[in-house]
Amino acid sequence: MSLFKNLFAKPLSAQLTVTSSNGFHLRPVAQFTALAKSFSCQITATFKDKTVDTKSVNTLLSLSLERGDTFTLVTKGKQADLALEELQTLFNTLMQHDRQTQQIEKISRHYEGTVAEGEIISEGIAIAPTYSYQKKELQHKSTMNFKEALYQSVTELETLSTVQKEENNAGIYLAQKELLASLAEKSHTLSTLEQCVKEESEKLLGTKLASKRSDYQDILQRVKKHMGMEVQVIFPDTPFILLCNDLLPSDIEILAQTDVAGVILKETSIHSHTAILLRAAGICSMIADTTTLPQNETVVLDTHAGVMVQHPSKDDLERAAQQQKQDLTQKARSTQKRFEPALSRQGKQTHVFANVSDTASAKTAKEEGAEGIGLLRSEFLFTSVKPSFDTQQQAFKEIFTLFDDVTVRTLDVGGDKALSYIQIPQENNPFLGVRGVRLFQTHPELLEEQLHAIFSAAGAKPVKIMFPMVSTVEEFIEAKSFARDVAKKYALDISHLRFGIMIEVPSVLFLLEAFNEVVDFYSIGTNDLTQYLFAIERTHPSLKADELSPVVFSAIRAIIEKATKPVSICGELAAHKNAIPTLVDLGINTLSVSPKSIAQTKEAIRHV
Ligand code: PEP
Ligand code: MG
Repeated sequence: MSLFKNLFAKPLSAQLTVTSSNGFHLRPVAQFTALAKSFSCQITATFKDKTVDTKSVNTLLSLSLERGDTFTLVTKGKQADLALEELQTLFNTLMQHDRQTQQIEKISRHYEGTVAEGEIISEGIAIAPTYSYQKKELQHKSTMNFKEALYQSVTELETLSTVQKEENNAGIYLAQKELLASLAEKSHTLSTLEQCVKEESEKLLGTKLASKRSDYQDILQRVKKHMGMEVQVIFPDTPFILLCNDLLPSDIEILAQTDVAGVILKETSIHSHTAILLRAAGICSMIADTTTLPQNETVVLDTHAGVMVQHPSKDDLERAAQQQKQDLTQKARSTQKRFEPALSRQGKQTHVFANVSDTASAKTAKEEGAEGIGLLRSEFLFTSVKPSFDTQQQAFKEIFTLFDDVTVRTLDVGGDKALSYIQIPQENNPFLGVRGVRLFQTHPELLEEQLHAIFSAAGAKPVKIMFPMVSTVEEFIEAKSFARDVAKKYALDISHLRFGIMIEVPSVLFLLEAFNEVVDFYSIGTNDLTQYLFAIERTHPSLKADELSPVVFSAIRAIIEKATKPVSICGELAAHKNAIPTLVDLGINTLSVSPKSIAQTKEAIRHV
C-alpha cells in the first residue's frame, strides 16, 4: 500500500538560491549529496532546463551553480517531505557557513632584485633555493584488487573526514570520498577509473572549478597506491622553495613534514583544496608563473607583499631575513602569550572572549586563551534533530563548566539561519521577519524548554542570558518576564543570572536610555547591525556592505557614549586587524571572536 502510495505521490519542490560567493562548489555539494543519499526517494535538481540526480557529486556539480543562481530541488517517493525539509535546511546552513576566502591585502615593500608579482595563498617570508617538484612511481607488491583498493580508499577518506579537527580539512576529505564514490559507480577497472578521471578533469578545464582537477588526480593516486602503484614525492633535506604547477591535496601533509620554506604554484586558485591545506599548515605560499625561475637558485618569497625576488641584493636578503625574524617572534609571542591579558601600550586591558557553538569549539577556545565565552550561538548546538531537555541541559553544563564568564544567546533562528525542527512560514523578507527574539511569540514551547535547560545547567553559576535581534524595549521586557515565568514554573532561582541584548537592530541606538533601565549588558552584533544600517542583506549574492565603514564606527561610538551597562562586541569586526585599534580607542573593553582569532586579537590589542 505504501509502495503504491509512494509511486503515485506528487513530487514536492523548493527553490534554492546559491548565496555563497564561492558558488555551490565541491565541499558543500559533497555534504548535500551525502545527505541526499541517506533517503531512498528520488531527489533531483533542475537548473536552466538541465535536471540531474543529486545523489552523485559529479552530476550535481555539472550544473555549475554560481552565486545568485536559483535551482529547483524536487523530491518524490518515500519520505519526500522529510528529505526536502532536511536538504533545504542543510543547504541554507552550508551557504551561510561557506565564507569566501578573502584576498589578502598586499603590503608594499621595495626590493632591488627582479620582482615578479603573484596572488597570495598564505602569508610569510621564505629565503631559500628553488626546487622543482619531482615524483617517482614505485611499484610495490599488492594483494589488493581494484574493488578492494576502491573500498580501502573510500574507508580511508571517510576516516580522514571524521578525525580532522579543522572544519575545512574534514570537508575536503568528505568531498573526495563522495567524488570517488560517484566515479566508482561508472568504473569497474582501474583503466575505466583512469579514463573517467581524465574525462571529468578535462571538463573542468577553463571553468571556475578548474583547480578541483587536483582532487580527481588525488583520488586516483589513492586507489593506485592501494593497488601497489605508489607515487613517491622527493624533497630535499635542506630548506627549499618548491616550484610546481599544482600540488595534490594529499601532498601537503607530506610537504608539511619536510624542510619546506615556501611554495609557488602556477595553476591553482586561492579557493582550491590545495590552497586551503597550505594555509592550514601555515606554509608561506603564492600563485605565480615560475617559468622563468631557474632551479636551485636562492630567491626571496615575500607573501606579505605578494612577490618573489630573483637575484636579491645583499640589502634585499637582509631586509627579508629581518622581516622573517619579526614574523616568527610575533607569532611565537602571540601563541606564547595567549593566556596573558591583552594590555594596550598604555596599559589598558581589553578582554578577549570567544564566540562558540558547541562543546568542541568551547574547548578549543579554552586552549587558545579565551577569557570567557562572549557568545554561545545556541542555535548551532543541535542542527538536525530537536534535542530533548536532558540533551540540552547536558550540553550547556559541559560548556558552562569550562569558563567562569559565559554568555549564552537564546535561539537565533530565522533570516539566514534555519533549523529543520523549527517551521517558520514562508516570508517575503525573512531578514525582516520572524527572527531571534521574535521566536518567543511564535515558538514559546521551544524557548521554554531551552531556558529551563540553561537555568538548570547554570545552577549557582552567574551565567548571562542574551536575547538576539531585539528591536524594542517591550520585546526585552516580555522575553525576560517569560524567562522568569519559566524559572517560577520549575521552582528555580535565577536571581543571580544576568539578562542582556544583542545590539543588531538600529532602533536600539535610539532607545538606549530606556534599555539602560532594564538590561544588564549589551553585545554589539556588527554582522547584523551593518546589514540593517545599510539595508544590504549579509548573504546577498552581489551586494556587500562595507564592514569598516565610518558609519559602523559612529554607531559603536554612539552606543558606548549612551550605554550605562557593559558593552562588548561579538560580530566579525571584533577580530578585524584594521578595526581593533579604533575599537580599543573607543573604549570597548571586551571583544568576542572566533577561537582561532584569539591569540592574534590579543596581540593586535598589545600594539594599540
Ligand atoms: C552578529 O550579528 O554580529 C552576530 C554576532 O550574530 P550572528 O552572526 O550569529 O547573527
Ligand atoms: Mg546576528
